Amino acid sequence: MFSADAKELLQSTSISAILQTWPTQFAIAAFFTIGFALTYYQLWRRAFITNAGQRRGYLARAELLGSGLILGTLLHWMGLIVPLNSNSMMFHNLGFLIFYFMLLDEHINLGEYLLRCAAIYAALIVQHIGYFDRWQFWISLSTTTILLVVTYVFDRQFRANIKADVTLGGLMALSFWPWLPPLSAGLHVNPTVQFEAVIMFIMMAWVAKRYWNQQDNLADTSENMTEQANYDTLTQLRSYSLYEREVPDMIAEAKADGEPFTTIMFDIDHFKEFNDEFGHPAGDAVLMGVAATVRKTVLQYVDNDLIYRVGGEEFVILLPGMTITQATRIARDCSSAVCAAMFSYEGTELHVTISMGMTALKSTDRDIRSLYKRVDEFLYQSKRAGRDAITIEGHTERRDGNAADTGYRFFAQPIVNVDNDGAHLVAKELLLRMRSVDGSHWELPNTFDINVDVQVALIKQVLENSTCRHLGINLLPSQFTDLRVARTLAEFVRSQEDFTLTLELTGVPNLANVALVASIYHDAGIRISIDNVGSVNHYEAIAPMLSYVDVLKFSLQNLRREHDTENLDDRVKFWQQVAKDAGIMLIISGVETRRDATHFRTRYGIYRQQGFLYGRPSIPND
Ligand code: GH3
Ligand code: MG
Ligand code: MG
Repeated sequence: MFSADAKELLQSTSISAILQTWPTQFAIAAFFTIGFALTYYQLWRRAFITNAGQRRGYLARAELLGSGLILGTLLHWMGLIVPLNSNSMMFHNLGFLIFYFMLLDEHINLGEYLLRCAAIYAALIVQHIGYFDRWQFWISLSTTTILLVVTYVFDRQFRANIKADVTLGGLMALSFWPWLPPLSAGLHVNPTVQFEAVIMFIMMAWVAKRYWNQQDNLADTSENMTEQANYDTLTQLRSYSLYEREVPDMIAEAKADGEPFTTIMFDIDHFKEFNDEFGHPAGDAVLMGVAATVRKTVLQYVDNDLIYRVGGEEFVILLPGMTITQATRIARDCSSAVCAAMFSYEGTELHVTISMGMTALKSTDRDIRSLYKRVDEFLYQSKRAGRDAITIEGHTERRDGNAADTGYRFFAQPIVNVDNDGAHLVAKELLLRMRSVDGSHWELPNTFDINVDVQVALIKQVLENSTCRHLGINLLPSQFTDLRVARTLAEFVRSQEDFTLTLELTGVPNLANVALVASIYHDAGIRISIDNVGSVNHYEAIAPMLSYVDVLKFSLQNLRREHDTENLDDRVKFWQQVAKDAGIMLIISGVETRRDATHFRTRYGIYRQQGFLYGRPSIPND
């Protein structure tokens, strides 16, 4: 296959001879240098950046120094033991490069620097063993010393500039190689070797520096990207994604330590109109101003401002370790500071107000969502109450600290007892309404899942304006089985004299959770009713609940609305029998005519009735 000449050439050229040619040595040195720079960079970062100042950081510093010194020494030693002239120049040069490179480590102290110098001196002395009387040794020693001092003094400049760094490397090589004795630590030194060595050293210094810089830039970029994801660029506040990552741990910690933890959420009032009037850039300026104002205020109370921009103009302030009472002062201050602040954009004076909601972490908060949902609900309560307000655990106050409206009202509808003398009021059912956004009327709320503290405040309002001492409120199954709801309502009812509360369940709750809460309610004298039997709630679902229930309500209006009035009498009869068997009361609602009233009373003996005939839901005041 091969020609005779080629064969001969191959045989005459041994691998070791190829390895000794200078291009090969340069290539090996270059690859080695790249690998070294990359590895060393990671070690350095671990020591001085990621674990800076920590115990782990000091260990990494020792590891950095130790590994550099060991590797450098090992390479010099290899230069000593390889057969004369094979690759010793390369090995010495590599070892020397490592010692040189370590000199420019950022953040090292004088002690660490002197240890690195010691390595350089040791290498230099070993190369001159047997020739200390030559003047060249002293030249080399003194120029090296000067360079070490210069390096220490101007380290920052050398690090900042690759040309300066490589020039310094060149000077180091020139203070070392040209002055070596003819036989130096296993190497025959001649001008060719010296020349090649200096060039190789400069090349290695350049390669090492380049790859170091490249790693450093990569690390910077990734740090910047993390920074960008964690911090909002407009307001410099923490981002929502950081909120999602940080909060679960904070909550878990607060719970584990039994520490208080308060969350405040706020939103700028009428910001859409503001943008429309003054323009988006002015809006941005105000957003920045509000963020800075709130941050400054919060920092008067805590060292670490945990303020997050969770939406366009919605923010969350976290106050770990603070009770709601302590946090209330901060919230009021923030709200006053924003209101008093004058922001300016292109000469226009701008003012805004904010609405706030705040709540404390509860042992029943299972995840960040329940906390977020509650505080969000309180914020919207402040909005409905007319804005520029703070809602603290369901209680709304104006910025001046005066109580404000919740934005919700209970309307009341009578429940009567009918007998031969007519209808007598026995109770009122409270129906939740919400003030419309423009404040002109009351409407059905978008959710009935309102906070129990708000419900209690609203019931109190009714009790103040009405003489009726038996009230009913509607609860979703999830509210009914919520232990906090149960305890709060029980406590409230106990605190009231001569007051009866009935809970009307709009759906059938999960049976597993009923026994416990039902006993809490019953112990406080609260009655439990199930609404809409025979329409929304069917017998099969209700049957297992019957032993916990005091009242069933059959509503005609639901059936009429759905034109489902076939066998109406049979169905009423069925439910009357169910109630009788269970020993509980049946109320019929949706009674609109006298005929209906008489019919259900005389035919089925249903005396408790409710409906337009007896009164429509209205704001209670009698
Ligand atoms: P409310 O008092 O009920 O909060 O009224 P609002 O107009 O502030 O209503 P909402 O909170 O729903 O509107 C938010 C508006 O905020 C919508 C959007 O135009 C504006 N917005 C959101 N993010 C930015 C932003 O980064 N810059 C500016 N300039 N405006 C924003
Ligand atoms: Mg807003
Ligand atoms: Mg908003």
